[in-house]
Amino acid sequence: MRLLVVGGGGREHALCWALRRENPDVIICCAPGNPGTAELATNLAIAADDIDRIADAADMYGIDLVIIGPEVPLALGLADRLRAEGRLVAGPGAAAARIEASKAFSKDVMAAAGIPTAASETFTDLEAALAYVAEHPEPLVVKASGLAAGKGAIVCATRAEAATAVQSMLGDRQFGDAGSVVVVEAFLVGEEVSLLGITDGHTVELLPAAQDHKRLLEGDQGPNTGGMGAYAPVSIATPELLGRALKEVFTPCLEELARRGAPFSGVLYAGLMVAPDGTPNVVEFNCRLGDPETEVVLPLVRGGLLAAFEAIARGEAPPRLEIAPESFAVTTVLASEGYPDKPLKGQPIDLPESFPHGVVAFHAGTTRDVQGVLRVSGGRVFAVTGVGATFEEAQARSRAAGGRWQLTQHPACRTKWTFRWRSNGQQVADRPATSADSVR
Ligand code: AMP
Repeated sequence: MRLLVVGGGGREHALCWALRRENPDVIICCAPGNPGTAELATNLAIAADDIDRIADAADMYGIDLVIIGPEVPLALGLADRLRAEGRLVAGPGAAAARIEASKAFSKDVMAAAGIPTAASETFTDLEAALAYVAEHPEPLVVKASGLAAGKGAIVCATRAEAATAVQSMLGDRQFGDAGSVVVVEAFLVGEEVSLLGITDGHTVELLPAAQDHKRLLEGDQGPNTGGMGAYAPVSIATPELLGRALKEVFTPCLEELARRGAPFSGVLYAGLMVAPDGTPNVVEFNCRLGDPETEVVLPLVRGGLLAAFEAIARGEAPPRLEIAPESFAVTTVLASEGYPDKPLKGQPIDLPESFPHGVVAFHAGTTRDVQGVLRVSGGRVFAVTGVGATFEEAQARSRAAGGRWQLTQHPACRTKWTFRWRSNGQQVADRPATSADSVR
């Protein structure tokens, strides 16, 4: 079987790694891939959003199944194009990808389907948005409706902050077109959990629940990032919660999308804020695997991943995944100095020859120069995942392996994070979980 994985980040490295581990004989191409995927697949020098060239490559390499990682090519209609050419694709078409590409659409779907979520209003007019902010209780969350690389949500403690955020989007156009439509919503209290379901539009096969950490610094401080670390499984994702999420979130969302003529097939990601009373409030939907959630979720899948992608691509229910019992995964993101605002790029990376048992380092923002030297090419450089029989073992492996690099820590990131991690029914509060080390 010949696979094409579209994308070039840590998520796609983890996808290639998991697919290869499960199927040693499968042929994998990755567009564009990265130096990590190069060890597992044939990298094709084609950007993930270059629809025409990806379609041509699928033809040229006789690809049987295309798995699309990032949201941008999905929103641009890559899956539609490939399906129209008769190819098997795991990933939604552009109409269904709007569940992520337009937060205004997503809120509309949730309202129509009765999915629990924060009260909100959508605006294109600055004055109307400012008036709404002035009339609603703090805190508020202001979101650019369009795709903003995971950075378009601003949690505002005060109305004044919310007004500034609205002004930055609708007035100053700091988020470009993505911020020309703005959603202002109530702040939700609770515990976040990311649920990823592989679905043909009817049946949902959930991957282990994950929790990611979006703030840059210790103690949930600093700006939002694409994600600084993650772990799975999550103790609050009890069978009861998963049951409620399927019934109250996934099924109504899929039904409403189908009703609108936008049936969803692919990985539906529900970012939940679980309220103290157990209500699975939706913070956001994504139309693909999360990053860095993928880097902790896929190492826990022991079998059935390729079969699930193939089944949904054929329009069939995904078979059950085999999940490693009694296993935990923690990933630490190593970010380049200056991330997320102005990450330094181009620094050479001294990669260890090998990693200890239970550790895998996924390349996220690396490249090889013409001499073959590995260099930093993006803000998030590696996601170093540790897997263990306990959460603590997985965490220790991730941290120890991340620390083996020739690293210079970012002064702002030197202190250890103390956000809350939960595992195996216990709350592990206020303990170092991972660090925002930086690669120089
Ligand atoms: P989003 O881009 O919508 O996933 O938001 C990014 C992050 O902002 C989420 O992971 C939450 O931590 C936070 N957030 C977004 N919306 C809300 C909300 N309504 N209440 C509380 N936190 C939120």
